[in-house]
Amino acid sequence: MRTIQVYNTLTRKKEVFKPIEDGKVGIYVCGVTPYNDPHIGNARPFVTWDTIRRFFAKCGYEVHYIQNFTDVDDKIIRVSHEQGKTWKEVADHNIDVYFQSMDALNVRRADVYPRVSDTIPEIIEMVQGLVDKGYAYVVDGDVFYSVEKFKGYGKLSGRSLDDMMAGARVEVDERKQNPMDFAVWKSAKPGEPFWESPWGNGRPGWHIECSAMSLKYLGRTFDFHGGGSDLIFPHHENEIAQSQAFCGSEDCFAHYWVHNGFITIHEEKMSKSLGNFFTVADILKKYPGEVLRFFILQTHYRSPLDFSDERLKDAQAGLMRLENARRNAEELSAKDGAADTAKALAEAALSAKESFYTAMADDFNTALAVSYLFAVAKDINVYYNEVVNQGTAFDKENFGKAKDAFYDMAEIIGIFEAKAEEKSDEDAEIDALVEERLAARKEKNWARADEIRDLLKARGIVLKDTAEGTRWERA
Ligand SMILES: [Zn+2]
Repeated sequence: MRTIQVYNTLTRKKEVFKPIEDGKVGIYVCGVTPYNDPHIGNARPFVTWDTIRRFFAKCGYEVHYIQNFTDVDDKIIRVSHEQGKTWKEVADHNIDVYFQSMDALNVRRADVYPRVSDTIPEIIEMVQGLVDKGYAYVVDGDVFYSVEKFKGYGKLSGRSLDDMMAGARVEVDERKQNPMDFAVWKSAKPGEPFWESPWGNGRPGWHIECSAMSLKYLGRTFDFHGGGSDLIFPHHENEIAQSQAFCGSEDCFAHYWVHNGFITIHEEKMSKSLGNFFTVADILKKYPGEVLRFFILQTHYRSPLDFSDERLKDAQAGLMRLENARRNAEELSAKDGAADTAKALAEAALSAKESFYTAMADDFNTALAVSYLFAVAKDINVYYNEVVNQGTAFDKENFGKAKDAFYDMAEIIGIFEAKAEEKSDEDAEIDALVEERLAARKEKNWARADEIRDLLKARGIVLKDTAEGTRWERA
């Protein structure tokens, strides 16, 4: 199999990926807390991981991808009180909204979407295990993890306990043995959801949830753990401390930690108070989902990603160039022809595809990879022009090879997936008119055909009659 290099946050270097089980890859990505609409910062890890898993699958791996929903959380409880709904209603609604947003971004579904509320027995078992082994202690129905007991605490974020305490605004809690100790179980407060436990009624702490869910679905050892770089500390640091203490081995839990970079808006941090906070739905009002996806992937996942209308427009223009090549490729491949005119095109496309895979295998460098997609698109357009406008005889076999390479790359990037049923009502109406005009022409009803052409023209639609049929574009 192809050698794939990955930057591992844990070791702070690029490493050759060695799967735990040959030919298989297990991935756990921290999912959303479903209390509001997903914002564009949420979109980045999911688009990134969707692309990484597509790449692994293309390289022949069997991918097992788990992404949770943190459906028991302070924020959900707060929103449920504000809206007069149950925590479950709030979570269910926002999970639906999450899926709508991700569908628009062509993010394929995970194999399992565990919810915290479905994992309570496993979480309690883990907390009990930590108490039994002396890594956690119980105070008045709360259970705290003792960071001093775990030798490797700080290994992911590269910070010592002293550094952490100097840098953190730690609330004084007399019940904690060390200020950095964190809750793995919280006693029930009035008006909050709770479950019975050996320590009384309560609910899990955030970090233990992901430890328990990844253990349940991927086992004690798995390949990748991913998420935004804001999760490195404390969330992922604490997950490691809990999981490795529970399993009793430093080798257990994720082998590779992969974190995507921050998002900024016009080079400022995105925040509600700055008034530059955008949800995925906000962006989708102005741009198709594929544009947002393509925009995200044009930057390497570890680099900061800066949003601006201008940069989204650039991404849209780039995607339109690729889309145009796709249309040309579709049109050409409907033709027959046994000439030998596309040999160089096929060779160039296969070589571009190899370069694309090499870029992806170097820490998932989508930014470089898409440049090869553009190169093939350009070649396809040149060949299209030669065949359609300059009379070059068509070479179906070699052109097919170039087209396959082009589509293979596009599939990893996750574009060209806008489905017919997702067409807007207006697009469907235009399609119908174009069809009707075609039928009128076949019946030699030129008056009706011209009438439809004028009708479409008035709506800003330009028709292009080609040998293979009629295409339409917005002027
Ligand atoms: Zn998590």
